[in-house]
Amino acid sequence: MTLIKEGWEAVIGLEIHVQLNTRTKMFCGCELSFGDPPNTHVCPVCLGHPGVLPVTNEKAVEYATRIALALGCRIADYTIFHRKNYFYPDLPKAYQISQYDLPLGIGGHLDVELEDGSNLRVGITRVHMEEDAGKLVHSGGASGRIDGADYSLVDFNRGGTPLVEIVSEPDISTPDQARAFLTQLRSLVQTLEVSDVNMEEGSLRCDANVSVRRPGAALGTKTELKNMNSFRFLHHGLESEIERQLEALESGERIVQETIHFDPASGLVSSLRSKEEAHDYRYFPEPDLTPIELDDAYVERVRQSLPELPAARKERLVAEYSLPPKDAGSLSANKPLGDYFEALAAATGDARMSANWVMGDLSGYLNAAGLEVTASAVSAEALAELLRLVSEGTLSGKMAKEVLEAMIDTGKPAGDIVAEKGMGQISDAGELDAIVARIVAANPGPAEEFRQGRDRVLGFFVGQVMKETKGQANPQLVNELLRKHLGGAG
Ligand SMILES: [Zn+2]
Repeated sequence: MTLIKEGWEAVIGLEIHVQLNTRTKMFCGCELSFGDPPNTHVCPVCLGHPGVLPVTNEKAVEYATRIALALGCRIADYTIFHRKNYFYPDLPKAYQISQYDLPLGIGGHLDVELEDGSNLRVGITRVHMEEDAGKLVHSGGASGRIDGADYSLVDFNRGGTPLVEIVSEPDISTPDQARAFLTQLRSLVQTLEVSDVNMEEGSLRCDANVSVRRPGAALGTKTELKNMNSFRFLHHGLESEIERQLEALESGERIVQETIHFDPASGLVSSLRSKEEAHDYRYFPEPDLTPIELDDAYVERVRQSLPELPAARKERLVAEYSLPPKDAGSLSANKPLGDYFEALAAATGDARMSANWVMGDLSGYLNAAGLEVTASAVSAEALAELLRLVSEGTLSGKMAKEVLEAMIDTGKPAGDIVAEKGMGQISDAGELDAIVARIVAANPGPAEEFRQGRDRVLGFFVGQVMKETKGQANPQLVNELLRKHLGGAG
């Protein structure tokens, strides 16, 4: 355990909701949508009309099984759905179909690599399936929150979207560790290609349970931070809530079990409502759905279909391409970026140079434009052509950066841009030889100084040649030719 303050430690567990990217909803045939006009993807089933019967989405069960297996969970051979009863305007049935005491996956873990290179194994208590609620849109208030709104509208497009809830053990002890866990869980789920894992759009959402205690003491009373919709909010929210609990305990107050709202703008936490206990929801088995029995052959088939997971890919990139572990980790954390790198490395035959360009200039452009690599204006093949011009000595590294910018702007291949701009390093010894000879002859004074042993005069000559060639001379060749023509002690 890492102490968060002298004499205190924090105990943090996370609950993550992952929206699955199946074609249709969890229990009906409505297509999933994001951003479509409100209430255009609804039917009697997901609107909870009387007499309708839900049917479980087989693809969603498969996706949930993928997630559970990737987290090392045991897959239950018999699992059922429960009704979780509560009223809210975004939930027309007044119950959510979820899982209770027989979840799909139990007892897994995620090995999280921390900033200092050490490993933190976080237990996974359970992985279960459920359906999402609709979405309330609060209008008339300045904040878009329910406080101060004039009225609220409800959009049921999201209602019934398949969700997987991942519950961690309280093995996390700092906000940094929580962020690292969520980051690496996100890249794991992204690799499985079962969700868009977009926190801003809500396809990955995180709640955090947190308490503080004296080391070795019994667990303190926990509070729950809901809907931390970015890595930064999660980190910041936990910091604020831990500080609030410490201040309260140190001044002799007691912590009340409650749900906490974190306001990212002010950095303040406030009480939302007292926290419900499981028995408040009157869970009971969903009578309209059949139990799910996944036999060993099915589970094995899904296990075999799992792609290479980030941790395994990192090890392979280190072994296969001799990349530094940190670089291999970054490239493995984002599946499409890792795929892009491997395609580029195959095309150039130079893994180190490929990694440098992917993580340097290419990532710089993608981050600035807010793009995923799959939407890059420059394909791996196009970048490979540019890097070939660098390897051949046609372009310097600096020129190549300029060409890459033009490739991004125009979508043209590197060769065309180099031709249009008349770029390209002069690596022709004959052509450069004449220029160097002329410049040496035109500067007898500095040439004499060089012959007397003032080596740094060479820089003056290199500058002259670069000026003459508009910076396109191959610097190594210029140096060799200058020494030849100047002769002397240099
Ligand atoms: Zn529907």
